[in-house]
Amino acid sequence: MGQRTCTFDGCRRILYAKALCSGHWNQQWKGQDLRPLREWGVRQSQIAALIAGPPTDECILVLWPSGETHPQVQINGRIETVGAAALILSGFPRPPDAECCHDPLICNTGRCCNPRHVRWDTKKANEADKVIAGTVIRGTEVNTNVLVESQVREIRALAQARQLTQREIAARYGITQSTVSNIKHRRSWAWLD
Ligand SMILES: [Zn+2]
Ligand SMILES: [Zn+2]
Repeated sequence: MGQRTCTFDGCRRILYAKALCSGHWNQQWKGQDLRPLREWGVRQSQIAALIAGPPTDECILVLWPSGETHPQVQINGRIETVGAAALILSGFPRPPDAECCHDPLICNTGRCCNPRHVRWDTKKANEADKVIAGTVIRGTEVNTNVLVESQVREIRALAQARQLTQREIAARYGITQSTVSNIKHRRSWAWLD
């Protein structure tokens, strides 16, 4: 089955809005000149590792290329959102023409790959979800985010590498700078090697 992809030259990501993927749409929205995006920021193995942890009702957020609200991942040669990837990797293949819908009352973030927060549904249902999501005031993501072990390891490695500031690392994971500091200095997750 063919997939409609971003119209930016050479970009293979799936459409988000205005014939662009979310990354290029974001560039356009910010009034920037469109430029190539970093290569795939999310790997299938990363999603698999994230959803392999103990089941949780909290969002499970992936590390995403900066500026992309809806990171994508290649699964079996197809380009999928991380939510769709979570369903597929959990043993729920995509039904014909179905879209991956985030539960608008629980999370509705394109970075979440908690299989409990997504479902296959029709395009119409997905649009209805977006309307609900737009009218519901949600708490800050920070408080509902739960890091999983693999993310804590990534954060620790990033903090030790010092290529990004703690504030930049925090932004990537939707957490606070002090959380990054606590992880780095083993005031939290001390037991994790
Ligand atoms: Zn694109
Ligand atoms: Zn979620």
